[in-house]
Amino acid sequence: MFPFDDPRALPTPYVWQDEKSDTLYFIDTVGYDPCLYEIEGPIEKVYTIKSQYQTVQIFNTIRFGRALAIDGTIQCAEKDEARYHEAFVHPAMILHMKPKNILICGGGDGATLREVLKHPSVEKATLVDIDEEVIKVTQERMTFLWAESHHDPRAHVSAGDAFAFLKSTDERFDVIFSDITDPTDEVSLPLYSKNYFNLIRARLAPGGIVVAQGAEISEVWQNPGRLLIWKLINSVFKTHRTAAYQTYVPSFREERSFCIATTDPPSWFDASHLPPWALQKFDYLEGSFRFYSPEMHKALFALPPVVEKIYERALRSR
Ligand code: SAM
Repeated sequence: MFPFDDPRALPTPYVWQDEKSDTLYFIDTVGYDPCLYEIEGPIEKVYTIKSQYQTVQIFNTIRFGRALAIDGTIQCAEKDEARYHEAFVHPAMILHMKPKNILICGGGDGATLREVLKHPSVEKATLVDIDEEVIKVTQERMTFLWAESHHDPRAHVSAGDAFAFLKSTDERFDVIFSDITDPTDEVSLPLYSKNYFNLIRARLAPGGIVVAQGAEISEVWQNPGRLLIWKLINSVFKTHRTAAYQTYVPSFREERSFCIATTDPPSWFDASHLPPWALQKFDYLEGSFRFYSPEMHKALFALPPVVEKIYERALRSR
């Protein structure tokens, strides 16, 4: 399908017009397997901003609805973003007995905040994304991601570096989400470090939980470099307090992995298992989820044996 010898050598971001059919494509050349997304409408419909930090683009895809891309990589798409965000947010929010104070590092598209605020125990949710353009443009053009959550009195949204924020704050958080772009630029690179996860650990309240978006699972076995988050989280949190899980995101064309860890687990902590009091939370959250459920919770943590082995081996080779 690719009319290029080596799509990975193309400049990013790359929007290509097929002259034969007049069709417009966005080509994600950053991942392990380059992907093609058919765009609805002419090139003028691709909204592009070069912010101080990155190239932010919004366009309508034929298959996945409106999509957000940063520096040539799809970050989320209308039709399936709930799959990603519900899997990212709810396991930790359900597993924590009473999450009140929440921090979202990155997550400037607003959907992680939207999901966090579904939990009535939340008193405050702070979102710190380095790029105010991402925040602004998604609030204007991808309103379904925020779903007005920024107007919720519990929400505190600001533009800033998450690393600097963690260093300067003296707050303690019950759950911290690391919803950061992949480590392909200097903006996010410092957040793929032991220092960053040490700061997160220090800012977690007792029994606190961190979740970081990891890598595409298939890339984990093709490219050991993609085990970075798993290795980092395990070097900072003791291994029996960590777990990896995954969900399939069609617009990513991949299973996306997440790493979850806790500082101070009560004896029941097993991320894949929901204790009875956690199950009770589903009563008052009824109707809140499209993808997440007690059954899906268990399914998220079921990894293929080949992947489990890779994760285990990664810990031994640290
Ligand atoms: N769901 C996404 C994925 O699959 O990778 C992540 C989405 S979210 C839009 C990623 C955000 O991380 C971007 O808005 C970017 O501005 C933010 N980011 C990158 N480096 C950051 C930093 N140092 N501090 C805070 N936010 C950062």
